[in-house]
Amino acid sequence: MSKRLYPHKRVRYWFVYDIDDICALFSDFGLHAQTVRKWFRKGLKTIDAGKPALVYGCDLIEFLKKNNNANKCKTAFGEMYCMRCQDARPIFRNKISVEQNAQFLKVQGACRECKNVMFKNYKLTDMPPLRHQFRLVDVLELYDFAASTGKTHIPAQVRNATSESLQGDLF
Ligand SMILES: [Zn+2]
Repeated sequence: MSKRLYPHKRVRYWFVYDIDDICALFSDFGLHAQTVRKWFRKGLKTIDAGKPALVYGCDLIEFLKKNNNANKCKTAFGEMYCMRCQDARPIFRNKISVEQNAQFLKVQGACRECKNVMFKNYKLTDMPPLRHQFRLVDVLELYDFAASTGKTHIPAQVRNATSESLQGDLF
C-alpha cells in the first residue's frame, strides 16, 4: 500500500477529473493510473458508472484528506487507525488475529468504538509484546520455515536412510 501523501490543495473543488487528469496532477509523484483505480476500490467516488471514470474535484479532495490522514496518523503500539472513526483507536476486547509473512505481521482487530475492522502492520520482532498485550485469537503463518528448509534437508535424510550401506546398521 502506498504511504505517499498527495497534496489535495492542487485539486480544484469544482473541476471534473478523469484518471489521466489525476495522474497529471501528481505526475511529480509518479502517480500511476493503477493507483487511481485502487483509490476507486478504496472509496474514491466517481460521478457515475460511465467510462471513462470521472471524479468531482470535491470528492477527490475528500478522499485524499482521508487517505493522507490514515497514512499520517500516529498510532500507539496498542492502537490501530480506524477508517470509520478516522482516528487511532484501541482494540475491542483486546482481541487480534495475526497473519505472519516473511517481512511483517499483518494484525487485524476491531475498533473499540464502532467495531469496524482495522488493520496494522507490525514488525516480526513485535510478536512477543503483541502476545503480552493482546489475546491472539488466530495466528496464521504464511511463511512456513519448516517447509522451506525441509525441501533441501528431508530428501537427503531419506536417501541416507534407505541407502544400502546404512540398511545393515539399521536392521
Ligand atoms: Zn472506529
